Amino acid sequence: MTDKFNINELNRMDLFFELFNNINDLVFLTKVINENRFSYVLANKPGMDLWGLSESAIGKPMDEVLPNEAYRIIETKYNEAMEKKKPITYEEMIVLPQSLIHLHKNCTSDQFVYWESTITPVCNQDGICTHLLAIVRDITDRKQKEIELKRINDRFELVWNSVAEAMYTFDKNENFVSVNKSFETLLGWTEEEILSNPSISIIPEDSKEDLKGILEKVKNGDAIPSHEVKRITKGGKIINFLASYSPIYNHNGEWDGGVVVYKDITERKQYEEKLKQLALHDPLTGLPNRIYFSERIKEEMNRANLTKRLLAVFTLDIDKFKEINDTMGHDIGDKVLKEFSKRVKSALRKDDTFARVGGDEFVILLPDLTDENNTVEVADRILQSVRCEMNVGSYSASITTSIGISFYSDYKQEEKVLLKQADIALYEAKKYGRDRYQIFSRKKEK
Ligand code: GH3
Ligand code: MG
Repeated sequence: MTDKFNINELNRMDLFFELFNNINDLVFLTKVINENRFSYVLANKPGMDLWGLSESAIGKPMDEVLPNEAYRIIETKYNEAMEKKKPITYEEMIVLPQSLIHLHKNCTSDQFVYWESTITPVCNQDGICTHLLAIVRDITDRKQKEIELKRINDRFELVWNSVAEAMYTFDKNENFVSVNKSFETLLGWTEEEILSNPSISIIPEDSKEDLKGILEKVKNGDAIPSHEVKRITKGGKIINFLASYSPIYNHNGEWDGGVVVYKDITERKQYEEKLKQLALHDPLTGLPNRIYFSERIKEEMNRANLTKRLLAVFTLDIDKFKEINDTMGHDIGDKVLKEFSKRVKSALRKDDTFARVGGDEFVILLPDLTDENNTVEVADRILQSVRCEMNVGSYSASITTSIGISFYSDYKQEEKVLLKQADIALYEAKKYGRDRYQIFSRKKEK
């Protein structure tokens, strides 16, 4: 190879040099003078401009023409390429001297320029590297975009992992793509576990149908802002969440999955349940109250309209209950009411509804009875169980009850008529001596 090229002369002679000087990349051909010393043999115009080199720099040792700091980096990399005897590529950030900034359009006000360099050693037949070819590309633009992207990502990551809500994203095959820290804390699964094992599910069996409906909407581009869901933790605990689902689209605008936010509402649900319990139940016996019963009777009447099965209503009133209160005191009276409730309840089926609707007044809803005889059996069983002596505190009490029975037989009565008919029958039972049941008959209504 020649020691020195006259660039101006070669530019005139050859189209190659025209091209050589007009490419964006910086090209340097360097000669190895001896270990750790190099001199430029050839550099294209952008290369010369990088260090503000003039023609006179060609042929001189590089350590004499380059800024000290830059030379030290270049020297290390050149030696590395010579040692490896193959091309090496590396990225570097160079702080330019103030005097050279105007030559570099990408140079920021901080004087930073990012370069990606490939150094190729050129070796002779004896394997000795005599020259080095360096191609340097200005990657400041790309780097700045990467830095900005990383900054945005870091910020996003910080928000993603510091919100109290559990969040996750999923792809169009409904597989998890990412979960945040609160997800890990609330659901108990780490991101690694949940991403590596597709068989992990946080959906309880009875919520699968609901989720199918949600995903269908999300696929169609609908966001679901607040939807109550139940999810199951790694430990098998059920958590109530207020969930929001939003679709995610790819760069072509096609649906590509979704992002889900779960707000833990377990406490609120427990509170609501407690309020519901208080609103619909009698605090003394724990039995459903009149409001609850009224809901149930409507449901069962509607069901009986369809099934045409026998639905019976019992109204019960404890006989001479005032005497219990008067002789043993109100507290014992309360205990008797509790014991009475327990006994009647145990004489009923699971689907029957037993409610306390007044002081010593109770109602029972008995759906799906086979026939009227069946009803009589239940009434007898109740009377029998109540009759047995009760031990309440240090007292023993004997009570009986009377029962009025009405049937939703023609599937036409209104709720209040059905209850009124049972009350009429109860009145009859009291009249005929108490401790008995009486079935309502239309004759007696008149
Ligand atoms: P009858 O056979 O005609 O039903 O006679 P009775 O004495 O049971 O009369 P009634 O059903 O009218 O009286 C119910 C009594 O129940 C009146 C009230 O003092 C009592 N009572 C109502 N609520 C409570 C309660 O919460 N606790 C107690 N201990 N007694 C109650
Ligand atoms: Mg009574």
